[in-house]
Amino acid sequence: MIFNFIQTQFVLLKTNSGDDGVGVAIALTFMFVMLLILVKAFIDFRRDLAAEKGNAKFQDVPLRRIERILAGADEILRFRSPYYNRLSDFGKKRFLKRLRIIIAEKEFYGKDGLEITDDMIVLASSALVQLTFGLESYFLPRFYRIYIHPSIFFNKLLESNLRGSTSPSGVIRFSWRHLEHGFQDEDDGINLALHELAHALMISVESGDTDDGHLSDGLFMITELGRKYRNDIKAGRYESIRPYAASNDHEFFACCIEVFFENPERLKRDLPEVYEAFVWMLEQDPHNRLGDYAAPIQKREFSIKRKLRLKPDSHYNYVQTMLIAGFLLCWIPIIMINIHVETSPLPVALFAATLAVLGFILFFRKLVLSGYTDFNIFLLFLVIGWMSLTMGAGLTLNYFVPVYRMSELAPVSDYFITPEKKLRVLIDGEETRAITVGLEYRAILDRCKPHCEMTIYQHYGLFGIKVVDEIEVFESNEGSDQYQ
Ligand SMILES: [Zn+2]
Repeated sequence: MIFNFIQTQFVLLKTNSGDDGVGVAIALTFMFVMLLILVKAFIDFRRDLAAEKGNAKFQDVPLRRIERILAGADEILRFRSPYYNRLSDFGKKRFLKRLRIIIAEKEFYGKDGLEITDDMIVLASSALVQLTFGLESYFLPRFYRIYIHPSIFFNKLLESNLRGSTSPSGVIRFSWRHLEHGFQDEDDGINLALHELAHALMISVESGDTDDGHLSDGLFMITELGRKYRNDIKAGRYESIRPYAASNDHEFFACCIEVFFENPERLKRDLPEVYEAFVWMLEQDPHNRLGDYAAPIQKREFSIKRKLRLKPDSHYNYVQTMLIAGFLLCWIPIIMINIHVETSPLPVALFAATLAVLGFILFFRKLVLSGYTDFNIFLLFLVIGWMSLTMGAGLTLNYFVPVYRMSELAPVSDYFITPEKKLRVLIDGEETRAITVGLEYRAILDRCKPHCEMTIYQHYGLFGIKVVDEIEVFESNEGSDQYQ
């Protein structure tokens, strides 16, 4: 019995291969299509860049550079950012952690021949950290390209010279001269970087990029206040706010944010309602200089979405969600492979490899380069989270979407019960191979023994993995009864 088992195991190792040409072809096609998509994305990306006037230099910050920039960021910010300087050591650490993620997430380009320096990357990113320091969600993912011009630049669309611009398509532009100056003079209520990022924040909230109703409530409140005070601002009644703020809702929001950070006392004195609305919306109080700008803690309405956030930086929620979901659902790929898949390991391995490479490309930069996780946690995420979920979904899809159907008739040579309480049936074809079926076939096989035959209906699914749909067992003598 033991010998028989070992022998059959040996047969199993030897077989289940050689007849999977179709499967491998489909799996390779899938890989090829994924590769084409990648190549196309890359070509589009290069074309986008080439279409940009002024020969933008590609400045996607590589890991080594991120490490170097981060090593010098504290010094740069101590020298240049009064906001950063007043933070406690704990606050500074939190600030730098967010800064790192932003530097890894955004792409920085020098325009009009400008060579991007660490100072530029740190200072431009720091404005975003500053603006959203009180919030859980701080990435403004829509705005991922930052162009820095040496000085004023010409905008063809508006036909004018600009110091900065923010386009809903996801590009923010700065004149470095003005960006730098914005941080130099703290009390003048002018800060180009904060101004443009305020536009970016408002566009993000208006387009529903953030799932936080709190932000849209705050924006609504501030916009209403802006309309209320528009005429007074236009008339120059307030020392703190320049008349340009009265141009429209967007400029009101952006100009007020500059004063909110640079001169909170004056905004509080001139327009206390507006000041309080910003404290409420941005959940920080620049006036509270000794307490890391903490604002009074707000009571929030209960929301499942918020409760599900396991870490405050909501942009990365999917990491935890995918880990937990992958952990809970990892039985799907295991069961799919155990029950339905009758194939050589090659198409499955090709499919898994494609998914692994895809996961690596999609998440490496976001998770590892950003400093969000170390490499070991990243691998855990890739295997338990990403691979488990995509394999489960892929195998399910493969099962339900047939690409190539076939059936074959073959004599049964032997069968035995596996430790998982399944029936492993050896069938004779050009070479012996095994197929796993449910225990319910045992009675039929016992009855037709030793002249059993099987018809196996199979298909290759969407990803080239072979799946058994149905089998019929009957006695091989002509005219014998058929069992099902
Ligand atoms: Zn503006």
